[in-house]
Amino acid sequence: KLDVNTVIDWMKRTNEKMQENKSYLTTLDQPIGDGDHGINMARGFQEVENKISQGTYETPADVLKDVAMTLMSKVGGASGPLFGSAFLKLSTAVKGTDTVDGELFAKALDQAAAGVKQRGKADIGEKTMIDVWVPVAEALKEEPNFSAELLEDTAKQAMENTKEMLATKGRAAYFKERSQGHIDPGSASSFYLFEALSDVIK
Ligand code: ADP
Ligand code: MG
Ligand code: MG
Repeated sequence: KLDVNTVIDWMKRTNEKMQENKSYLTTLDQPIGDGDHGINMARGFQEVENKISQGTYETPADVLKDVAMTLMSKVGGASGPLFGSAFLKLSTAVKGTDTVDGELFAKALDQAAAGVKQRGKADIGEKTMIDVWVPVAEALKEEPNFSAELLEDTAKQAMENTKEMLATKGRAAYFKERSQGHIDPGSASSFYLFEALSDVIK
């Protein structure tokens, strides 16, 4: 179950991971993008941490909403509004609850994945972060009492599966066949996000 403090810890852990993996994420964005994904994520989640450490929150939805707003306004690049929409949907989906159980969280993730699809006008198999969000949402819907391991393993496998995909959305699409053989940067940062959640619920 997730309460306000779990969500805050989740975001702090995510920020740590984005800082630790900043140059790796940027390296992933070099061959199939513009080489700024690590910079975007490290800046965005640092701003998230700054924001939420100043606030006082009643519910998980309140924290998630501030996360969404911060990512939307502070991250230049495609990933800011996309992660922003995901967190906004998570927030709306859990509104009015103090503790979010596995079943509700799975539903919220499903809506978040739909939000990213809608915002990015993209679907699964296009080599974007959607290819991590959707499999994770699906796995959790099937297993509402999911373990930290299931969450982490599903996200990791999904991220790895983007390697062979051909990009048809985002900057990587300009590289056509050359986009194959590289993990999608936004899928890697999404993996860190879910790995961070897995760490805090362990
Ligand atoms: P930019 O491409 O503007 O430099 P980033 O490098 O921060 O932004 O983020 C790139 C990531 O955003 C990609 O790796 C991909 O996962 C995701 N992305 C890009 N376009 C879309 C889209 N239309 N739908 C979903 N995700 C997308
Ligand atoms: Mg980029
Ligand atoms: Mg960019």
